[in-house]
This record gives sequence, structure tokens and C-alpha cells, in this order.
Amino acid sequence: MVSPERLALPHVLSLTPYIPGAQPPGAGWIKLNTNECPYPPSPLVDAAIASEIERLRLYPDSRADVFRKAVATYHGVDVAQVIAGNGSDDLLNLLVRAFSGPGKPAGMNTPSYTYYANLAAFTGQPIVEIPLGPSMVPDLAPIVESNVNLFFLCSPHAPSGVAVPRAIVADLARAFSGLLVVDEAYAGFADDDAIPLLCEFPRLVVVRTLSKSHALAGLRVGYALAHPDVIRLLDVVRDFYNLDRLAIAGAAAAMSDAAYYQAIRATVRQTRSTTLDSLRARGFATYESQANFVFTEPRRPTGECGAQVARGLFDFLETRKILVRHFRGDPRTEGHLRITIGTPEDMVAMVSAIDDWLR
Ligand code: PMP
Repeated sequence: MVSPERLALPHVLSLTPYIPGAQPPGAGWIKLNTNECPYPPSPLVDAAIASEIERLRLYPDSRADVFRKAVATYHGVDVAQVIAGNGSDDLLNLLVRAFSGPGKPAGMNTPSYTYYANLAAFTGQPIVEIPLGPSMVPDLAPIVESNVNLFFLCSPHAPSGVAVPRAIVADLARAFSGLLVVDEAYAGFADDDAIPLLCEFPRLVVVRTLSKSHALAGLRVGYALAHPDVIRLLDVVRDFYNLDRLAIAGAAAAMSDAAYYQAIRATVRQTRSTTLDSLRARGFATYESQANFVFTEPRRPTGECGAQVARGLFDFLETRKILVRHFRGDPRTEGHLRITIGTPEDMVAMVSAIDDWLR
């Protein structure tokens, strides 16, 4: 029998799957590991999904028009500038599918969202990595000089939370000759975003998700905004039923309830600010985050820090049923923990567990 390995494309044999943050079974966890929203989605989402259930016999609208129109209204753009995705991961995948592959490399900063590298690897053309220094603020020159066809700029940056100001994104868009993708998964919690630049830069793409700021990680909906010519190219490589009926209805309802989500985002930002203060007061160096998480460097009262110390706190928190994220294997991340902003009560429990660990 011919083995599947002999049939597979050679580059596929060396791939390893992306490992998302754990979803622990059972109740009682304080889940601060995957940047989900600690509050429920808008009640309008429940109602919209409930009324769509009776139509599940029928295929969904392949263009997700009601959702795309809701996005266009929300951002004040034309509906031809919007494409919907099964989570923003789907859109990142479409961007690679349409704009990268053998001879046309994609690029990313490291550290950053590692799934960009997985997506590029699927095409057999490895991603070009442009390292960030300890400030996590990208240098523009190496990006411009890399000559990659497509560059993923993550702002606010994961895992640090550091945002790239709009004026800097504009400088990059002006100087870079490829397609500039700003992954704004966390922009709902930031002061600033790149969307106003779209009218000026036809090779700029902004990718958003409803997973974080709209409390819909389980529904799997994201969208990208760009010039209609870019959207058309993404549309031809899209799976035509990439959003199901429940996702389209629920996501459209979410986009229409701006006031509800505005309040949630304000609360998360407030909780982020108190969490940041608490961590810094304990001597943990913590990046100035514009996202719904903080990236902090645990420090023992002796001053000791580093990968072992961070892992020690990770393990200790796990014994208290508090789950955070530790990224091993990179000196810029392994001494830190990424902690999602939960409810104020979640954060009090987390800080009090840290105090027990410090004793
Ligand atoms: N971009 C970044 C930077 C992320 O952290 C995530 C979440 N893992 C995503 C994109 C994908 O989010 P989703 O597919 O849930 O929209």
C-alpha cells in the first residue's frame, strides 16, 4: 500500500499544527489564557441566532450581505470594501492564498502571532521573520527593505499589547511596496486604529475579529476592510459558504449594538489599567498594553526573573485554577506571562494568587 506520507506534498511533511490556548474541561476556572471577553455577547445576538435556527435547512448567503452591510455602516465604509471570514484566521488565510506563495514571500515580526508563519508554510514558501527588539516597537526600514509581497503588522501587538500609532502605520504604508496587512484583532481596546488610512492607501488591509471586543470567539466571525480591488481578489479564493447562517445573523446583530459593546470595552480598559498598576506595584515589568491582555515579567522578591520564574508562576496559578499563557522558546517572551483582562473580580483573584506566590 502506498503510504499517505508518500502521497503528501513534500513541504507538508515537515509542518506542525498550530496549538491554540487550552480550553480546560470542567467548571471553576478563571480563564485568562486566550483573550476572550469576560462578558456575554449583546442580547440582540441571542435573539438573532434564535430566529435564524428555523432556516438552517437552507444554505446561507454566500456573501454574508447583512453582516457586511452592518460592518460597512459601523465603520463608515462602502460594503464593497468589506469581506467576511470564519474568524479573522480565515481572512489571514485568504490573504496568504491570494498574495503569497512560492517566489512571493509573506513577512511578519517576531515575536508575534505565530499562525502567520503556519499559513505561509502551507504554501511551501516560508515566512520572512523580522525580529522586534525588547520594546516590541517595529522598525520600519527592515520591513520596507525585506521586499516581501505581503506583510503582517499586528497592532496592538500580540503578545505585548503595544500599539503602532496610526501615523507610523501611514509611514509604513507609504514606503512599503507590497500589501500591508494590519491585524487589528485587539484594536477594539486601543486608542487608535488604521481604518481612516484605507481611503489613502489602496494596498492597505485591516483585519478585525468579533472574537475579542464582541465576545463572540465561539461564533467564528471576522472581517477585512480594504480597497474593493483587494476585496475582489480575496473573494475569489474564499470558500463560498465560509460563514454559516447563525454566524451571519449573530454577527450582524452584534455590529448593530454599538452602545452595548462600547460599555464593555470601556470596562475592560478600566480593568486593564488597574491590573497594570497592580502588577507594576509588585515589581513586574509590564508593557503598556492597548489590548485586552497584559504582558508581564514575574519577579521574585529576591529580584529573580526569567523563564523559570515565569513558568513557576504559571504553574502556581494553574493550581489555583487560574489559566494564563506562557510562550516558551523565545528569550523575548519566555520570561513573561500573557494575562487576559477578565472581570474586576477575576483580576482581584489573580493578583491575590500572585501575592500568595510572592510569599
Ligand atoms: N490575530 C491575532 C493577533 C490573534 O491573537 C488572534 C486570536 N488567536 C487572531 C488573529 C485570530 O482570531 P479569530 O480567528 O478568533 O478571529
